[in-house]
Amino acid sequence: MENIQMVDLVSQYQNIKAEIDDAIISVAASAKYIRGPQVQSFQENLANYLDVNHVIACANGTDALQIALMALGLERGDEVIVPAFTYVATAEVIGLLGLKPVMVDVDSSTFNITAVQIEKAITNKTKAIVPVHLYGQSCDMEPIMKLAKKHNLFVIEDNAQAIGSDYSFFDGSTKKTGTLGHIGCTSFFPSKNLGCYGDGGAMFTSDGELANKIRMIANHGQAKKYHHSVIGVNSRLDTIQAAILDIKLKSLDIYSEARNSVAKKYDEAFKCIESIDTPVRDVKSSHVFHQYTLKIKEGKRDKLQEYLKERNVPSMIYYPIPLYKQKAFESYWDNIPLECTEDLCANVLSLPIHTEMGANTQEYIIENVINFINK
Ligand SMILES: *Cc1c(COP(=O)(O)O)cnc(C)c1O
Repeated sequence: MENIQMVDLVSQYQNIKAEIDDAIISVAASAKYIRGPQVQSFQENLANYLDVNHVIACANGTDALQIALMALGLERGDEVIVPAFTYVATAEVIGLLGLKPVMVDVDSSTFNITAVQIEKAITNKTKAIVPVHLYGQSCDMEPIMKLAKKHNLFVIEDNAQAIGSDYSFFDGSTKKTGTLGHIGCTSFFPSKNLGCYGDGGAMFTSDGELANKIRMIANHGQAKKYHHSVIGVNSRLDTIQAAILDIKLKSLDIYSEARNSVAKKYDEAFKCIESIDTPVRDVKSSHVFHQYTLKIKEGKRDKLQEYLKERNVPSMIYYPIPLYKQKAFESYWDNIPLECTEDLCANVLSLPIHTEMGANTQEYIIENVINFINK
């Protein structure tokens, strides 16, 4: 078995090649590389898909988080609550804007932050919460929104890993992740569930006033050309990327199903193994499996990764170090380690999962994991 990849973007492209090539050529021929009609069209189609009033595309997911925070009008030193177990971008933009990231522990089974953990971290300086829907599954947002309302906090969802996932409310109704808080942010990095062929990102909101602020900030602080009312940034989605995303959006649900069937096979293969915990499905959320992440117990994680590597099976550790232990975040840490975050950093391992995973490839991966355990 050769050349197994975490994500197989080449095979995915081959399956939609004709349509993608046409779209790219047509943008090239139009010369409308910036703010071409495909950007508008994609924003509208994504807004329809998500059932949200406004989608504002930007240059990447990190910018999306930054611009969303800028739109809230916070002041230096204000506190923003984030999970300690996430990608650096979530907390980085908070520090960049002179705000204070306050890191809280995640739940050991869902890997997401909960209202209970958030509440303990709320002070009179807290202004916002950034829940991250990690690996493709929604945080339990109903209690989080209730808590936010009680304390008058903004909620910005980091939906970079969970686009397409549905959250279920207590009354049985559902909503897409990214549309549950005040602003949702996502990334179209190539390996994300809805990925383009370069960098891209977007913000979603149903609040018209926030949408106007976001649009203005992303465009040099101007609502009218050469009239700059606030300090903004330059963050746009290229027309070519929008054209590609508009095509891939049509298949997003099919892609999520494909990821789910891969996950199901992994679950079945590993569920009876004592030293492996398979991903827990939260009844409140559908899962879009941006990552398929196991907990490998008994301190065997690193040895398993080495064993797989020797047999050409890639695997990844998302994430090996708690954010508060990163040098850049030193000054925000009170030296008290967070139990679940520490446990996950030491034990998680993500296996290859993507939309074109062949049965033979997956069987080979499973076989090698099991061989290692039985060794
Ligand atoms: C990928 C990712 C981001 C950042 O997206 P970029 O487009 O790479 O800037 C932010 N948060 C999370 C959780 C991510 O996975």
